[in-house]
Amino acid sequence: MQKKLLLIVPGVLILAVAGWAMNQGRTNTPVSASVEGIGIPRLLDLGATECIPCKMMAPILENLKEEYKGQFQVDFIDVWKNPKEAPKYGIKTIPTQIFFDTKGKELWRHVGFISREDILGKWKELGYEFKTTELPTIECWEPAKKETRNKDQICYMCDGDIHAKKLVTVKTDKGDVRLCNPHCYFIMWSCLTEDKADFEQKVTMTDWATGQRIPALEAVFLTGQDETTGRPWIKAFANRSAAIKERGVSGGNTVGLSVLKQQEMSHRCGFCDRSCYPQDAAEVIVDGGVQTWGCCSHCALGVAVRTGKDIEVRQPDGLTGEIIVVKTLNGQVASLEPATAVAWFGQRQRPDKTWGSAGCFHQGFFATPDHLKTWLDKHPLETGKLISIQQALADKMKLTPQQIQKACKIGECSPK
Ligand SMILES: [Zn+2]
Ligand SMILES: [Zn+2]
Repeated sequence: MQKKLLLIVPGVLILAVAGWAMNQGRTNTPVSASVEGIGIPRLLDLGATECIPCKMMAPILENLKEEYKGQFQVDFIDVWKNPKEAPKYGIKTIPTQIFFDTKGKELWRHVGFISREDILGKWKELGYEFKTTELPTIECWEPAKKETRNKDQICYMCDGDIHAKKLVTVKTDKGDVRLCNPHCYFIMWSCLTEDKADFEQKVTMTDWATGQRIPALEAVFLTGQDETTGRPWIKAFANRSAAIKERGVSGGNTVGLSVLKQQEMSHRCGFCDRSCYPQDAAEVIVDGGVQTWGCCSHCALGVAVRTGKDIEVRQPDGLTGEIIVVKTLNGQVASLEPATAVAWFGQRQRPDKTWGSAGCFHQGFFATPDHLKTWLDKHPLETGKLISIQQALADKMKLTPQQIQKACKIGECSPK
């Protein structure tokens, strides 16, 4: 029998040489499989791990399996590895999906790729209505606390507090933009769309020693790394001797603006190109090899659409720092660790009253919805809602190349 059943090719009839005539005769009479019932409905996909439409099916089936656990069973049989299984179900083409009732009687079958929506729609048509493992509704459209800080005290980039000794200002047509430290300045610089020639002339730093404002081009910087986190720190000085004096206290290296900029640009977001520190970012592995970063959890998922490749995202939980791992396949979530992880979509009201993304500093992943709740209690100024990580990825996969180019750029993303 094994010799007769030569191969099953996606989209091609089984070439069962000896059984050909018999199979031909059957084409108009749908084959109906009957198997042992398992007490719940069952969706069986017969395919092969190497066939392209089957590969596209895999993450969909994985998600359905997880999401509808206990309501209907999802199984997969690789008919290339288990050639005896194909005739058992009378399949001619892969992938084929068979819908069984609780007693194991075939209700319907489909050949080729089928979407998640069509699978669920078919179950409904067949009289089965399943409850999705519901995500709790966590949303907040009015900040729990009113902003009490003066606008001058809030960093334009990250909304963090501005300390007098670290202030950076950038002259613009609309007045001075105030930033909480040189790193936020470089983030801003990396996502500007305007001509950046001579841009530094508009920038003022603060002398760490005296609190005086100094032109960025004349500043000497002392940079080092936090001993425990490895996260870089930067202090600006009016002159070298002051920087060297401080070096005696806090360690580090003295550098000029251009070297500092090189350092700051050494890690960029793989989606939006922003400068980022690996200590703050999601690690993204593209196609199982190349490593890049996501400046926020949502940007990390965006690397899938920008590169068109399968990615693995390793994003720290916004509350606890535990690593949440998302693997994608063909633009869909193939696996999620832990399976309970959710995304926070930080949103903010634009001047025209519509809601837009609140920007990269206000997004995150959480291992459980409870982590998100606790985080929200600690961040009473945040607004937005809980979404599934599948949804966060789907939102990114919809973006056009033009939208990707503008993503997170000043004036395009975060409403200010
Ligand atoms: Zn900032
Ligand atoms: Zn980014």
